Amino acid sequence: MIIAGAAGVILLLATGLWVASPALGNTDPYEATRQRMMEHDLRGRDITDLRVLAAMARVPRHLFVDPSLAPLAYGDFPLPIAGGQTISQPYIVALMTQWAEIQPGHKVLEVGTGSGYQAAVLACLTDRVYSIELIPELAQGAAARLAKLGYSQVQVRSGDGYQGWPEQAPFDAILVTAAAPEIPAALKAQLREGGGRLIMPLKTFGGFQTLIRLTRHGNRFITEDICPVRFVPLVKPDPKRSKIGERP
Ligand code: SAH
Repeated sequence: MIIAGAAGVILLLATGLWVASPALGNTDPYEATRQRMMEHDLRGRDITDLRVLAAMARVPRHLFVDPSLAPLAYGDFPLPIAGGQTISQPYIVALMTQWAEIQPGHKVLEVGTGSGYQAAVLACLTDRVYSIELIPELAQGAAARLAKLGYSQVQVRSGDGYQGWPEQAPFDAILVTAAAPEIPAALKAQLREGGGRLIMPLKTFGGFQTLIRLTRHGNRFITEDICPVRFVPLVKPDPKRSKIGERP
């Protein structure tokens, strides 16, 4: 959708999506590509939650990728980050966030910090965000990037996400941004009993993956299929070699 002139400004203000990012000032070369992402890839699909849309409009995704990839940052695809990993397509970040139904004050765990982008989006919705990353260099890089961009409320730690973050449990929502053949038992146990939600890609047969949401009601768990997806694997570290719980 092309929005021209004053009518467009009024429309964007009315929809609550005209959100200035303090990290960007007035000279943001990616304003146009970000607006295209908002209209075409998010609102044009099924991203309807206004708080999720505002978060996606606000977080400067181009500062979470290598500078050479910045012009592609708002495209409708994943991008490579360090360590052979990927930052998910913006739509999938928004979709997982929307299904997490995060309200201010909710406690959220992300497994697979990567660049820190998903964590920054979560931090726009609540100030209680915890994120675990297996690769220490990625954890350190993401923690530094998040602090520099003003998301210092996000706590990042290097370790094995299969174990969750037991000291901070229970969580209202857990987002796993890497695929596994089954839901890690520790993550199920760390969901809040009254409605805690876990969103993650599950490997099915033949290399396919399905994004699912698991909702906890006491000791009962309800599973919903969201859509087919493609994520990098959630790596199970060798227990003899890993340094679980090490901080960046
Ligand atoms: N959410 C990230 C992208 C994640 S890519 C972003 O917004 O940029 C998946 C990440 O999961 C990778 O960085 C990978 O190193 C990490 N990962 C894989 N196995 C893991 C494990 N067992 N524990 C924690 N992180 C893991």
